[in-house]
Amino acid sequence: MEFEDCYRMVQRPKYDCLLFDLDDTLYPLSSGLASECSKNIKDYMVEKLSIDKNKILNLGNLLYKNYGTTMAGLRAIGYDFDYDEYHSFVHGRLPYENLKPDPILRNLLLSLPIRKVIFTNADKVHAAKALSRLGLEDCFEGIICFETLNPIHRSAISDDEDEIEFMGSTLASTSPTHSNGIFDIIGHFSQPNPESGLPKTPIVCKPSEHAIERALKIANINPLRTLFFDDSVRNIQSGKRVGLHTVLVGTSNRPKCADYALESIHNIKEALPELWDGDKMSEVSYPGKITVETPVTA
Ligand SMILES: [Mg+2]
Repeated sequence: MEFEDCYRMVQRPKYDCLLFDLDDTLYPLSSGLASECSKNIKDYMVEKLSIDKNKILNLGNLLYKNYGTTMAGLRAIGYDFDYDEYHSFVHGRLPYENLKPDPILRNLLLSLPIRKVIFTNADKVHAAKALSRLGLEDCFEGIICFETLNPIHRSAISDDEDEIEFMGSTLASTSPTHSNGIFDIIGHFSQPNPESGLPKTPIVCKPSEHAIERALKIANINPLRTLFFDDSVRNIQSGKRVGLHTVLVGTSNRPKCADYALESIHNIKEALPELWDGDKMSEVSYPGKITVETPVTA
């Protein structure tokens, strides 16, 4: 009986969920969607929000760096816009024709005996379109996307203190704000002590640990038994902090925060063959045999 219990314990696979980012993770950066998307975001800022063209590059970089996505940053500093309109503007004109069906990845995913979930900052229309183009629309149990983490569409900036709360209230009062009510983040970072006093964003997205934790809760995922695939080092860093096992995709250079690094998602079986061993009795380790985990790069 005692032996049976031990046997059952070691037989259990290490992971019971695979959590995948979508863009630049399930297809390569070279498809060109990411560069077109950032161009569309800049156009949106100029055309729809009337932001000075000369400030776009600097402003976009600051927002992306401090808020995870430019969209989250724009909302934080006071711009108000319809989320669906924003998404259709920045994603609607993407060269989706560059995404081709990927039967190799499809077969790899379908042969994996573990639950698989998508976790993307993008909206559901983009996620569905990209997955369909790749021929992967039926390979996942579910999709956690922008709408999952941000279910309420606000058409106006809330008066609710929580929505526009400032972190570091002492510095917030001295931070520059334009006469139009927009927080001057460029001016803010030209101050000697810019680390605190940034306005919060109402948008929940990676790489915030709160966003990842919320996604895990919604999909009933245990981070300690989940492998998280993403092409963004900062998403991987946050994933690691909330307890996920991590795989950086798109490079074979493995940073400290990643347990594995894959040049391409196609290398998944080469780097993690044990994912396919979940139901194979013959490859079970017996108690007493010590398995040393070695970080892998493929
Ligand atoms: Mg990505």
